[in-house]
Amino acid sequence: MSNKIQTVYICSNCDAQSPKWSGRCLECGGWGTLQMQTVDQKTADKTIAVAPAEIIDLEKLSDQAENRRLITNIQELDRVLGGGPPANEAGIMPGSLILLGGEPGIGKSTLVAQIADAVARNNLVIYASGEESAGQIKVRFDRLGVKAGNIKFLSETNAEKIIAAIKELKPALVIIDSIQTI
Ligand SMILES: [Zn+2]
Repeated sequence: MSNKIQTVYICSNCDAQSPKWSGRCLECGGWGTLQMQTVDQKTADKTIAVAPAEIIDLEKLSDQAENRRLITNIQELDRVLGGGPPANEAGIMPGSLILLGGEPGIGKSTLVAQIADAVARNNLVIYASGEESAGQIKVRFDRLGVKAGNIKFLSETNAEKIIAAIKELKPALVIIDSIQTI
């Protein structure tokens, strides 16, 4: 292994490295950003600093943490979402995205209010609506007996602002009503 010269392509936009040239960076999607660079293998270890991937010890990973599903106690819904029993395989999987669709008036808002109520008993929930005001949501929650204590309402259609609120509050569940308004 003497002076082996290796060619790599480095994106001028995001610094992603690729062994092969392509017209489009696979990392950032930039067009024509890959630039050829030659790397002397003898010094490569010193010149290219690559952070090691995060190592996760599966034995130490507690299933109490991120893998614990959020049970809604709406049996049909938990079953559809998770397919349990067992109970730890039913309900909303953290990190997942669920799209609830249906005709107007079919009961989507009532169902999400019930989901928010169930999850908010032990967790923080963000309810973002671009369609209804806080007052309208409150009236529905009161009618359904939803305790709003752990439910934070955002009257917002700007996705960036909603994301910023999510980063700050770190809720267990975010409800977006409706996705087409944002
Ligand atoms: Zn790139």
